Amino acid sequence: MKSLAILTGAGISAESGLKTFRGPDGLWEGHPVEEVASIEGYLRNPTLVQTFYNQRRKQLIEEGITPNLAHVALAELQRQWEGDFMLITQNVDNLHEKAGSTDVLHIHGELLKARCENSGTVLPWTKNIEPESPCPECSQKKCLRPHIVWFGEMPFYMDEIFERLRSCTHFAAIGTSGLVYPAAGFVEVVSLDARKFEINTDNTPQSNNFDEYFTGPASEQVPLFVEKILGDQKN
Ligand code: NAD
Repeated sequence: MKSLAILTGAGISAESGLKTFRGPDGLWEGHPVEEVASIEGYLRNPTLVQTFYNQRRKQLIEEGITPNLAHVALAELQRQWEGDFMLITQNVDNLHEKAGSTDVLHIHGELLKARCENSGTVLPWTKNIEPESPCPECSQKKCLRPHIVWFGEMPFYMDEIFERLRSCTHFAAIGTSGLVYPAAGFVEVVSLDARKFEINTDNTPQSNNFDEYFTGPASEQVPLFVEKILGDQKN
């Protein structure tokens, strides 16, 4: 049976208006990445980090950020693919779900969820998280944090993903820099016989590990990739 695994990164959401991780200035929305995306940064200045994710959450909800043609094409691919299908994303936005994808594995967590550090409970969350926000689960204050994986923390679903990657027949990495591990190493876990596609505006440090390239913006290239892989499936 054919088995397809897809990994997406910040590049797939860039044309929807969400900035990628490290811009040309090396910053994420004006902040050094270590300041807002590491466990050390959070422990050093929880208010700054909470405010940063409050802004990201607010932007997602209030600026009417919508999926682009790349997200839409992947949702259609999931509907038409006859075989095992796994969509892994490093993105913390909800654009795959908004486009119609299901069972998305958010390995770095989700902006629209909060986690209680006392009970470990994960809650749907659309408001700001403030130090005084009481946890609906344990009623304590100062225990809610964004349900986001920072540098220094273990990404989610790793056992399931590594097991399914080993047996996949097709793998695609879309809009991801090949710099952030463990996701950057997924292409090396996939069997040598699997067909590997990279979709990006640029080369990445992992490009040599792929067999086929769709070079250009995701909104143009992902629909072309989907057309090709659905054609291959019939042959
Ligand atoms: P990255 O920002 O490090 O790299 C983005 C990649 O996308 C680059 O290789 C770039 O060449 C490519 N790219 C940029 N615009 C593109 C386009 N229009 N079409 C195709 N490719 C394009 O992203 P990463 O490797 O995913 O690592 C980012 C980390 O930052 C993740 O951990 C993620 O959680 C977090 N993040 C998430 C979001 C989001 O949820 N939308 C946004 C920023 C950062």
